Amino acid sequence: MNPAPAELSSRSGPGADLVVRGARLLDPRTDLDAVRDLVVRGGEIAELAEPGSAPESEGVELVEGEGKLVVPGFVDPHVHLRTPGDEHEEDIETGTRAAAAGGFCAIVAMANTTPPIDSASVLGSLRERAEREACVPVGFVANVTRAMAGEELTEMADLREAGAVGFSDDGLPLTDARVLRRALQYQRLVGATIALHEEDPALSGDGVMHEGEVSAVLGLAGIPEVSESTMIARDCSLALYEQARIHVQHLSARASVEEIARAKATGTLVTCEATPHHLVLTDAAVRSLDASFKMNPPLRSEQDRQALIDGLRDGTIDCVATDHAPHALEEKEVPFEQAAMGVTGLETAFAVLSTELVGPGMLTLETLIERMTAGGEPFGIPAPRIEAGAAANLALIDPALEWVVGDDGYESRSLNSCFAGRELTGRVLMTVAAGRVAYRQRAFAMGVAG
Ligand SMILES: [Zn+2]
Ligand SMILES: [Zn+2]
Repeated sequence: MNPAPAELSSRSGPGADLVVRGARLLDPRTDLDAVRDLVVRGGEIAELAEPGSAPESEGVELVEGEGKLVVPGFVDPHVHLRTPGDEHEEDIETGTRAAAAGGFCAIVAMANTTPPIDSASVLGSLRERAEREACVPVGFVANVTRAMAGEELTEMADLREAGAVGFSDDGLPLTDARVLRRALQYQRLVGATIALHEEDPALSGDGVMHEGEVSAVLGLAGIPEVSESTMIARDCSLALYEQARIHVQHLSARASVEEIARAKATGTLVTCEATPHHLVLTDAAVRSLDASFKMNPPLRSEQDRQALIDGLRDGTIDCVATDHAPHALEEKEVPFEQAAMGVTGLETAFAVLSTELVGPGMLTLETLIERMTAGGEPFGIPAPRIEAGAAANLALIDPALEWVVGDDGYESRSLNSCFAGRELTGRVLMTVAAGRVAYRQRAFAMGVAG
C-alpha cells in the first residue's frame, strides 16, 4: 500500500499564466526530452506546443527559454525550517524561499523544533503559519515519540488526522527497539511512513567526525560507519517483521547502502535518501578544521562516497535530500569540536550535483532529475510531471550559467553552506510551485542573465 496523498500547506493565490518559449523540456518519467513552447494557464500545464507556435496573448508572461532547461520541480524529503523556536536561524518564509531558489516545488519539514511537533495543536498552528508564509508547499512530519524522548509514542492517529505527512524524531535516533516496533505497528494502521535517523549513540559516543585516517591524524573522536549501518540492519528487520513502511534518512556509508540493498531484496518496505554533501565531499575536507564541514552523519571516506553514487545510480538510493540544517554563525564560528552539526543545502543541491556528478559523467542528467523529484513519494507527495493537465511544478534552469556559491548572498537566513565559495555550473532561474511563480533569480528577473 502506497502512502495516501499528503496534505501540504502553503500560501494560496492565483495560478500563473506564462509561456516558456523554446526551452528543452526534460522529464524522465514521461520520456519527454524535446524543445517546445511550454504553456501554463491558470497554474496548470496547458500545452507542450511546437516551438514558435504558442500564440502571444495579453496578460500572459513570455519567458525566453532558448538554451535553457525546464524540468519537473524538485521535492526535498528532509528540511529543517527551525520553526517554531529558532526563527533567527530560519523561518517558514526564508526556508521555503531558499527551497524555491534551488528549484524545489515542495519540501518535507522535520519535527525537531522548539517545541517539537509532538501534538496536534503544535502541528495545527504550524500549518496555519505555513498557509500565510510558505511560498512552496510544505509537508510536516510529526514526532514518533513525545518530547522526542524516545520512550512514549505520540498520538500518531491524531497527528495523522491533523495533517502529518509522516513521522520522524530526526535529529535523534530511536534507540529503543521496542519503541520503534510499536511505532511500526501504529504506522501500519495510520498509514504514514516513519523516517529514521539511523545512529547508535553507544557507537557514536562523543565523535565529531568520521572515524578513519583523517580523524586519527587530527586526533579527533570518530563516529564509525557501523554506528549507522547496524541500526539500519536492525530497523529494516523490524520493518519487515511488522510489514511496516520506513524511510532511512541521510545514508553516509558503504555498509549502509549494502544493508538497504539487502533489505529491498527481501521485500522490506524501505526507501532511502542521500545528501549532496555526502555525494560530493569526503572527510578530507575536515582537515581544514572548518566547522562548515561538520554534520551528522559525518562526511566519510572516498569509498563510502563512491558507494553512495553507485547506489543513487542503480536506484538502491531512491532520492536526494538536502538535510538543509541552518545554524546561527555563533554556533559555527567556534572550534571544530564545539561547533553545531549541520549545513544548509537547498539553494545549491541541483547545481552541486550537476557540476560534480553529471559534468564528469558519473551520473546522467536524467537520473539526477529522477532522484531529485522522487523525494516526496515516501510521504505521499507524488513526483511532479511535465504533461498537459498537470499542475505546474517546474524549474527553469540555465545549464551553462557559472556562479560562485554565496557571491550574491543566500535566500536562507543562515550562511552555513559547506559549498560556499565553490564555482558551479548550472543555475535555477525560475521556479513554479503548485502553479505559482515561487522564485525568480535576481539577474534573470532583471533580464540580464544568460
Ligand atoms: Zn538526521
Ligand atoms: Zn536532519
